[in-house]
Amino acid sequence: MPLAKETKIYKTFIISITLTIALVLSGIFLGMSIRMRQLIYEENIIRAKSLFNSIVLTRKWNAGYGGVYVEKKKGVKSTPYLKNSDIETVDGKIYTMKNHALMAREISEYAEREGMFKFHITSRNPINPNNKPDEFEKKALELFERSKMEAFDTEMINGKMHFRYMSPLFVEKNCLQCHAKQGYKVGDVRGGISVSFDIENLQNRLKTNTILIIVFAITTTTLLLSLIYFFTARLIKRVSDARHKIEKMATTDGLTGIFNRRHLMIRFEEEFKRAKRLKNDLSCIILDIDHFKSINDSYGHLVGDKVLRDIANHIARSIRTYDILGRYGGEEFLIILPETDFEEAKNLAERIRIAIKEKPIWNIEVTVSLGIASKSDKDESEDDIIKRADDGLYKAKNSGRDRVEYV
Ligand code: GH3
Ligand code: MG
Ligand code: MG
Repeated sequence: MPLAKETKIYKTFIISITLTIALVLSGIFLGMSIRMRQLIYEENIIRAKSLFNSIVLTRKWNAGYGGVYVEKKKGVKSTPYLKNSDIETVDGKIYTMKNHALMAREISEYAEREGMFKFHITSRNPINPNNKPDEFEKKALELFERSKMEAFDTEMINGKMHFRYMSPLFVEKNCLQCHAKQGYKVGDVRGGISVSFDIENLQNRLKTNTILIIVFAITTTTLLLSLIYFFTARLIKRVSDARHKIEKMATTDGLTGIFNRRHLMIRFEEEFKRAKRLKNDLSCIILDIDHFKSINDSYGHLVGDKVLRDIANHIARSIRTYDILGRYGGEEFLIILPETDFEEAKNLAERIRIAIKEKPIWNIEVTVSLGIASKSDKDESEDDIIKRADDGLYKAKNSGRDRVEYV
């Protein structure tokens, strides 16, 4: 388990990395989406301009001839506002004049019927009342008067989204033949041609694309974050395991697996303070293997090590879970016994001594000497208690070994 401090660091790391990635990816995808919309909008403008230019060319071509005649077949009407629009050929066929404005309007109607696009030639003051400007065109005409050369917008027409574009028409010399009465001069903005076309299909594709981008963004973010979480979790586990290992190495003895001297001393200090505070009993036992040097000398160090481990296990099995056992020196062990008075400690020491003696390790009879000491009413430090236990051990050694002693 990671420590609370580590958990906080990991949490902060995960939250900040999640926010950063979510923010960066959202920014990228939002940027992509906006750029795509812009591109499509620009594409619409290009398309509208090209349509505008085509109709201007067509009008110019017609106006260049001063209008063209078409045969007045069935359904073809004369233009009401053009005087003398019909002529009859010598063989009796009737032709009617189509001027540039009419021609553009008819092409526009044709294109609209085919579902392609729509043109509208309009001005503030049109000759033909059909050419009155609509709202968008009015605004565009106002812009043209302020020297703007283009106007565009999107608009719902008959429930479908349309792109609208308008650019001005300037009065040229041959325009004055018909429009001089309206007071125009060459170079004036006489009106404009508006172009509109259905972009519903395009809008739908754009919507689908936006949805796809959102799905893609969510998938990518989720995937990336899952990967980060996975690797962070692995890293957290490794760091936590490594910390445990280090902690274990710092507190235990490598050979026997019981606490080392450094940790023993920390625990003894804690237990001593607690016992003093709560006025509890506290005892300790120092155990030293008798003639261990000769075991090493006779059987070798590896057997000596095995004896050390077996004795550590013996002691560990003899004590309570809250007693504290550690390796105090080379072949010396210290047992801290919280809430244990002198008599209980003495009994336990005796039990350990007999248990070790009666259970030879690899047929080697091993005996131990033990010194015991308990917390007294005197003003003693924890070192004083250990010193007394050590003195007891010294006494045991000097009294023939294989015994429990105290001073
Ligand atoms: P005494 O009865 O007076 O305690 O005699 P002793 O031989 O046990 O004591 P002494 O202090 O003379 O020798 C202790 C020996 O313990 C010396 C040392 O080589 C051995 N020893 C200390 N640590 C280890 C260890 O980790 N492994 C092994 N195999 N031997 C160790
Ligand atoms: Mg010894
Ligand atoms: Mg010794």
